[in-house]
Amino acid sequence: MVRNDSKQVAGSPATRPPRGAAARRLTFTVAAALAFAGVGTAAANAAAPGAATIEPAVLASALEAATPTNTTKVVTPLKAGKYRLSSYYGPRCMPTVNASDWHLGQDMAATDGTPIYAVANGVVRKAGAVSGFGQWIVIDHVIAGKKVSTVYGHMWNATKYVKAGQTVKAGQHIADVGSNGVATGPHLHLEVWPGGYGVSSTDPLVYMKAHGVNLTAGATSAIKRTVPSSCTYYARARLNLRVGASTSTPSEVVLPVNAKLTTKPGSKSNGWLPVKYGSRSGWVYSTYVGPSKVYVPPATSTKPTPKTVRYVAVTTLNLRASASTSSKVVAKLKRGAAVTYQGSVSKSGWVKVASGGHTGYVATQYLKATKAQALYALKYVNVTTLNLRAKASTSSKVVAKLKKNKAVQPLAAVSKGWQKVSVSGHTGYVATEYLRTKK
Ligand SMILES: [Zn+2]
Repeated sequence: MVRNDSKQVAGSPATRPPRGAAARRLTFTVAAALAFAGVGTAAANAAAPGAATIEPAVLASALEAATPTNTTKVVTPLKAGKYRLSSYYGPRCMPTVNASDWHLGQDMAATDGTPIYAVANGVVRKAGAVSGFGQWIVIDHVIAGKKVSTVYGHMWNATKYVKAGQTVKAGQHIADVGSNGVATGPHLHLEVWPGGYGVSSTDPLVYMKAHGVNLTAGATSAIKRTVPSSCTYYARARLNLRVGASTSTPSEVVLPVNAKLTTKPGSKSNGWLPVKYGSRSGWVYSTYVGPSKVYVPPATSTKPTPKTVRYVAVTTLNLRASASTSSKVVAKLKRGAAVTYQGSVSKSGWVKVASGGHTGYVATQYLKATKAQALYALKYVNVTTLNLRAKASTSSKVVAKLKKNKAVQPLAAVSKGWQKVSVSGHTGYVATEYLRTKK
């Protein structure tokens, strides 16, 4: 089945704004939405939480909630020496399935349970479940006279210490590090949004440093900050490579599982990724690709066990409609004709077979395992001892000595008084003058 590429996470508890360039365009969306709701621009700037989706209830609570007071004190969200910098703000390759490829925040990897602190005095706008982070906290501040929101993501429980609407102080313990949602390990994802959440994000390292907090200096280590020139992803399912960023555009080709795709960091748009697949270019829905190959269990062998083939060992053998000598004769099979078993042999020795386009039943006593055996009836040694020789000559090596009445299976026609035979696992030649057809 081709996985469709329609929806991302069904029933997401909250909506996050799009990443990157799309996020910057939100400025207008939010302003327009507030204007539509009859809220003046000044009031909106003072109180808007900047949610991507403005619902009347959210808007009302935003307007009623406390307004953060001006502050200049900014502190670290995780204590120095307790974290390392693991992923930076900006374009990147998706580190895991469903992760962003335009990282809106700074990742600070730390032990699960490490305390997270509010970076400044402010008012908690959101605390709870959200898609992507699993749980998040958004705090609105006014820092040096400017409105700014900070976002903290991936904690196991966003409402353990705080709730929406409450005032918090700089350095107040608001949550503990977790690895909830789309995460490769425990870390704090920190975002900074000058103007308010959803307006315009900025690099937390730069913002925090400008306000006296050097997060790089406080880290135990930091991964190298580079933006790769391209990202490699693999299809996680059989997936349509489409000509455009929509399920309504035609599929160019169905990609196999683990098809290798390349793209530029930060090119994801509304969940769609422009990719190259070999010489082809197209779009895939990003949920169905990941940074590593998926395990494909080895295909269980579908090769049928070879069917038993036997050969007719009598001049004529009746192929019958059922397993009885009184049933209708479907065909007459000649000596040496191959029959293929269609089932198992019954207790009475009948078996269903196919032969020469016919299907019916034969008595197995008239069949032989090899064609040669089927073509030649058994013969019996008629002297006290008969030499089985390697070649059709009295001067050739004796392979075995055959006793009187020993049965031999002729494998070929008689030639110059000699016949190739099989007997007790040996193959060789005997002089036919010492054989007879009955014991
Ligand atoms: Zn992150």
